[in-house]
Amino acid sequence: MDKILMPAKLPDDDMVRVHRDAFLARKLTADQSVSSMIAELGDGMASSQLSERKNQMAGSLRVTPAISPYVWKLLDAAKRVLHFDTKVDLYVECSNEMNAFCLPLPDGTICVVVSSEVVKVLNPAELLFLFGHELGHAVLRHHELPASALIEVSRDKGCLSPAMALKLLSWSRCAEVSADRYGLLCCQNPGVAARVFIKLASGLPGRFLGETSDYHEQFDEWKKVSEAEDGALQTHPLLPLRVSCCQTFACSEYFSELFPTLSGEAKFTNEEADRRTAEQLCQMDPDPELMDDAEHIDEEREFLALSGLLLICSDGQVLDEETAGVVSISTTQHVAAATALLQCDASSGEERTGQIGRFLAERCELSRRIAIIVKLMMLAAIDLEIAEAETQLLHAFAEALNVPDLLVDSLLQRLLDGDALNI
Ligand SMILES: [Zn+2]
Repeated sequence: MDKILMPAKLPDDDMVRVHRDAFLARKLTADQSVSSMIAELGDGMASSQLSERKNQMAGSLRVTPAISPYVWKLLDAAKRVLHFDTKVDLYVECSNEMNAFCLPLPDGTICVVVSSEVVKVLNPAELLFLFGHELGHAVLRHHELPASALIEVSRDKGCLSPAMALKLLSWSRCAEVSADRYGLLCCQNPGVAARVFIKLASGLPGRFLGETSDYHEQFDEWKKVSEAEDGALQTHPLLPLRVSCCQTFACSEYFSELFPTLSGEAKFTNEEADRRTAEQLCQMDPDPELMDDAEHIDEEREFLALSGLLLICSDGQVLDEETAGVVSISTTQHVAAATALLQCDASSGEERTGQIGRFLAERCELSRRIAIIVKLMMLAAIDLEIAEAETQLLHAFAEALNVPDLLVDSLLQRLLDGDALNI
């Protein structure tokens, strides 16, 4: 492992944190539905989460300097680079999955748990990245907005609008990239971060991998296959996107201010680095608010209003939150016009839906059309189940948009199963 440098100055969290992470976190916590859910879950969630974690930790090894000097020293190095003064308890859990998480205990101690597989597969520099990432979550207090728990509760109780649920997932992906930046401050080499992601994806230890950090072709391929498929419903960004976000940060002015001897000339001002990161993340983001300037947005909103209304009417009863859900993925005006059309002549409304669907199919990228289907699925799931009639309609909309059937099925599966968190 190359020598680890101390940054030239204390890392400034406002500079490291992805701007959109902070922006969305403020917006989400200010939202009534999210904040009341957090309040309602409050201690209940924290304590149930805690007791679940405690069970997990009961069988795990608590690392002390004497028990595993190797792991301890690496955590300690990450803490020193980040000037992280809070007490950290580190556990290694016996598991052959690649997994890590961090969680604050009631007394303020930060608990970091890594699986034994991660310790075996990652080399010292890569473990530094991982510890930096987990400590980054703690520094930025990401646990205060427990996206997965909120989505899960909403899946059971239906208290978030589809637009809000998508925004929460969107924030969660930005938060991962912020945490990756802390990882990068610790390992100080974007090539190391890339290898971590390759190892996470393949599960292969270093002896099976060449020295190259040139995985671009592979990443491009992954992106093509998976970007559109399940990006929008994931709490974590796709690995290739995380790699490019790390590379961007390593080329920023701020990174070279922190490590003047490491990086050459900075390629991006901090604002540029942040803008590029936001653009990279937007590739998998159907957040309706991001779409204002998109081409054919008017047609997309008309399609969402019509198909959304058809969807919520298909099970014979329309709930208030369903109507609000259609507005949240479209606009009030589009929904009013679509309602009028459907009330006056339902079959011409259906015909119009197919027409605009085909219009969008010819003009918009597959990823955007899939994002439309995702929004409709979130809407269909608002009453907590997706009825057979709704599934059939979703397939019909997908057909008009020329989105493959198989993709629709795998998206539905993902939506109903929820997501596993990894690192
Ligand atoms: Zn993370």
